[in-house]
Amino acid sequence: MDMITAIIDGWQDGRQRDPCWLPRYHEGMKVDFHVHIFPTWTEEEREELCRRERAFREMYGSSKASIVGHDLLLRSMDEAEIDVSVVLGFAWDDPKLCRRHNDYLLEAAARSGGRLLPFCTVNMGCPGAVEEVDRCAQAGAVGLGELRPQDQGWDLQGPAGEALAYLARKWGLALLFHVTEPVGHLYPGKGGLALNSFYNFAASHPDLTIIGAHLGGGLPFYAYMPEVQEVCQRIYFDTAACPYLYRPEVYLEVVRKIGAERLLFGSDFPLLGQKRALAHIQGSGLGGSALDLILGQNAQAMLMKR
Ligand SMILES: [Zn+2]
Repeated sequence: MDMITAIIDGWQDGRQRDPCWLPRYHEGMKVDFHVHIFPTWTEEEREELCRRERAFREMYGSSKASIVGHDLLLRSMDEAEIDVSVVLGFAWDDPKLCRRHNDYLLEAAARSGGRLLPFCTVNMGCPGAVEEVDRCAQAGAVGLGELRPQDQGWDLQGPAGEALAYLARKWGLALLFHVTEPVGHLYPGKGGLALNSFYNFAASHPDLTIIGAHLGGGLPFYAYMPEVQEVCQRIYFDTAACPYLYRPEVYLEVVRKIGAERLLFGSDFPLLGQKRALAHIQGSGLGGSALDLILGQNAQAMLMKR
């Protein structure tokens, strides 16, 4: 029996209520909420995958774009003194690739002693998506993401989005979306989910735990609109790739608008080193208590609520 099946069996017959990798929380612990890891087969089959998968080709077609596994991530976490990383895969078009990648994330997490927390990915536009979310949730997935509906060709505003919301509610899963900045420079992987689609979904599902990656495509900048502020103050925004997108003042500005309680530190490793991402936010002028919230306490509060 493979490891994932064994975990699901243990969960179903009541031997195992909590996934074995829930971290032991402690004060001052640092959580990186946005990291991508890949199984070795993605490196071995990279050329073929680039031929078959448009978004993967856009982001990983260049050999300069690193693909790393959990071993290098754990080493980076030791160096950067990060206690826990939320591990994300890739929003493959092909649901079979999503499933293979999900297996890898769940296994890496199960072997990590609480250091890696798995988010799984599905293509909600394909048959079998509901069953795959059920399987991942039973095997201990903490959330779904990084979700890129537009890359996979399904509409967050349509029935697929409603199915996603139903599944998130059913299993208490957090949803982490890539959100596209509507302006500014182009970069590989910028597309994925339009800002207004993300906002509409978040506004119409107030009970869900939702995270907008990369400061939610800039949604907090609209928080002078009272209705946008209301939405921003009940969802989360991660800081993944901020050093590539924004000047360091951005953290102070967003905290002023929506509060430090809404931000989660994320690096986007290996696109960006964890040490460098940490230094960017630590050198931004944020006070100690705001930094403590963003670097770990918010993630801890959110994950313990599940
Ligand atoms: Zn992203």
